Formats: sequence, structure tokens, C-alpha cells
Amino acid sequence: MVSEVLSGLLVKILESKGKTRDFVLREFDKKLFRAIVENNPKRRPRRVQEYKYFMLMSMLWSVLRNIDRGIISHEYLKRAVQTLVNGALLGNKEQEDANRKFKEQYGTAPPAFVVISPTMACNLHCKGCYAASHSGARFNLSYSIVKRILQEIHDFWGARFAVISGGEPMMYKSDGKTILDIFNEFSDMFFLMYTNGTLIDEEKARRMAALGNITPAISVEGYEKETDERRGKGVYKKVLQAFENLRKYGVPFGVSITATRHNAELLIEPEFYDFYFDEQGISYMWIFQYMPIGRGIDTQLMPTPEQRLKMLERWEVCLKEERRFVADFWNSGIVSDGCIAYGRPGGYLYIDWNGNIMPCVFVPYYVDNIKEIFAAGKTINDALFSEFFKKGREWQLRYGYEYGAQPGNWFMPCSIRDHYDNFKRHIASMVKPEDENAKVALEDPSYHKAMVEYDEKYKKLSEKLWREKILKN
Ligand code: SF4
Repeated sequence: MVSEVLSGLLVKILESKGKTRDFVLREFDKKLFRAIVENNPKRRPRRVQEYKYFMLMSMLWSVLRNIDRGIISHEYLKRAVQTLVNGALLGNKEQEDANRKFKEQYGTAPPAFVVISPTMACNLHCKGCYAASHSGARFNLSYSIVKRILQEIHDFWGARFAVISGGEPMMYKSDGKTILDIFNEFSDMFFLMYTNGTLIDEEKARRMAALGNITPAISVEGYEKETDERRGKGVYKKVLQAFENLRKYGVPFGVSITATRHNAELLIEPEFYDFYFDEQGISYMWIFQYMPIGRGIDTQLMPTPEQRLKMLERWEVCLKEERRFVADFWNSGIVSDGCIAYGRPGGYLYIDWNGNIMPCVFVPYYVDNIKEIFAAGKTINDALFSEFFKKGREWQLRYGYEYGAQPGNWFMPCSIRDHYDNFKRHIASMVKPEDENAKVALEDPSYHKAMVEYDEKYKKLSEKLWREKILKN
């Protein structure tokens, strides 16, 4: 009921202008605050709920600013209201039915989405790529497998949102189809696609606008110098061209940044956000703190614990003062009630180009493979109940997900990054590494030591903040 009222108001906000919009926006703001912070149905700490409220409002503000600037088209908006607002964000009757059936069968709610990397191929060769991709890589999921995965989560989980990652998704080809054909086929779902942006020419941007159910998150590492240093000379210019093409056809887009020890200070500067949000017209920014997996593992590349805290402060300013939609993994774990991996209710799982099913993009270990599961006459639901996934979810529960008023420290939510010793001892037994790097990481004592030392140091810094800032209030 509450979501129906909010949904109605949201549609009005997106479709109206001037004073009418200001009025509806105020109503929406009040109702959203009441629903999330005051009613607080799961009895989370009030401060946790406030972060969620600010996150949603900053998302709305970031989109509205770009509508007003004329860089999100009305045609796109109309379609996005149907898919993103009514489907992915607020849910509809069909989804409720799917959710209820899943609960009856499995005694728990389903995940909300998947991340699929349909191809390992990439036209770039970035230093430290988590997927270790390159142009010669041939691993691909077939079109029929990708289609079946999406159909199953659509029907069994009521999912209306999926994330496409890489390799480079714009390089994907199977049976004469491309990734845009997938988006076309699932027109009642909304897609977020991580891409290096270099292949988004005018024609692709125009097609994305017509589809209206896709937003690209384009990778940068900072400005031109930082981006070209990691991604290759001339890449940043192509990225700026992709921004221009997307603005021209009215497709909302964002950027995705890997935060390392070297660029963390840049990510604390206000000018960085002014440049991307105000000058370039992004609607959102994802920051992924470097996780030592994939090509060229280096634990010294992670932002230091002190830098991580500074980034947390900066993230708060973005949400609360500048009303810019920024998500910082892992500082933003608080808005999702901690780790969302292992197919948690409302969370997700990750499937790569080999079909291996992993808890998360940053956890390169698996036990099941989707192609084998389908060949055995099973469905994606069966993958949710492996010992590996169940252990991960048990940890999430113990750590706080269902503890309501006194959850564990969600400033360090990550099952692998922030609790490495526990991950290795209690969650990752009997798993298969995704690649040679993941195998080395699991067996290397110096990797273990570096990860645990980091965790201990960050725990000392963040626990105090968690207790004083979140639990005390
Ligand atoms: S495992 Fe870590 S990166 Fe993955 S969802 Fe959980 S918190 Fe996020």
C-alpha cells in the first residue's frame, strides 16, 4: 500500500514540472521519510534508516537535475517509469506472486537480481582488471543460456532488474545476437551495464535511448591522466565521446571507479564530483574499492584504512549535502543492511562467462555451474542452496542481517574483504577457484596475513564510529 502511494507520487514527479512538481516532491519526501525512518518496519537503528532515505532521495535528485538539463529524454523516461520505477524499484502484482510462491517453496524470500558477465572478451587490457579480460579471450555464455537465466529470475524471483558486467559487454556476440538484443528481449526488466564506454558510438546510444531499459556505467579511474594510465592511451577521450553520445540521445549514464591507494585522495575532493555530475551530466557514481583479485593481485593497492574512512565522510557529504547519488563499496554497505551476496533475500549472485556461479563479483570461488545445472534438468534456484551459499548466508545472519536493532558493524560489511579469516576458515571450504589468481590468493600465507592485518586495523577505526555514530543514536 505504502509502495503504491510512493510509486504514484514518483511517476507524477517524473512527469510534471515547475510548482506542481515541487509540491509533489515535498509530499513524496515526507512520505518516504515516514515509511523508511519513522515506521522502520524491520526495527533497524534509526541512523541506518536515515542513510537509506538519503540514498533514495539523492538518486531522485540526481535524475531530476538531468531531466531539467534536457539530457534525459522524455521517451526514455516513459519507458523507465514502467520498468525501473514500477518494476525494479517498487514491484507489481506479478512480482509479489512470484515472491510468495518462492517463499512457500523454500521458506525464504528470493534474491532480487543477478550480475551476469556474458563474455570475457574485452577490447582493452587494463592493469589489475578483476576479470583478467583481454581481446583474445573466447569464453562466452551462449545467448540461450543468458536468456534462460534472465527468464528464470524473472519468473521465479519476480526480478525486474539485472546487472551486466564483463569483460566488455558491448563485445558480446552469440548466435548473431548482441547484448542490446537481450535488453530488447526483456523489455519489462531494467539493466545496469558496466562498460569501458569505448564502443558506445552514436548509433548504440540511439538504440539504448529507444530501448529505454538500460543505463551504462562507464569506467574511469579519475581524470584523463589516471584513466589512460590504467586503461591505455586515448581511452579517456573515447569515454568523453561516449558521454556526449549518451547526452545527445537522452540516456542517463553514470561512472564506475576503482578506488585504490593512489587515487583515493582524488575521490575526496569536491571538484571531482562537480566535474562528473555538473559538467559531464552523470546521474550516478559507483565507487568500488580495489579488491585484490583478478589480474596482478596487489594487497598494497587497496585504499588504506584511513583513506577508507575519509571516503566514508565524503560519501555522506555527497548524499546529505550535495544530494548526489554515489554508492561506495564498501562504505555504503549500511544502506543494504550489509553484504548482499550469496543469493541473500533481496540480494544477488554472480554468473561469469564460464557459467560459474559465484556469491559476488568480488568472491572468485564457486561450486556450481549454470550450464551443468540446466543440463541436469535443474533451475537457478538449486544453486542457491549449495553449502557454500548457505554458509555465506548464515554468516550474514550472524553478523547482523536479522539482528534488527543491534547489527554488526556495517561499515565493514564485506564477507571476503573485511572478514577474510572467517571467509577462508568458515565459508570457503570445498570451493573451486575461478582462476589461477584466485587459487594463489587462497593458498598464499602472505596474502592471508595482509588481508587480516588490514581487517584488524580497519576494525579498530570503524568500530568506534559504528558504535558512536550509529548505535548510540
Ligand atoms: S561479498 Fe563483499 S563485495 Fe560482495 S556483496 Fe558482500 S559486501 Fe559486497
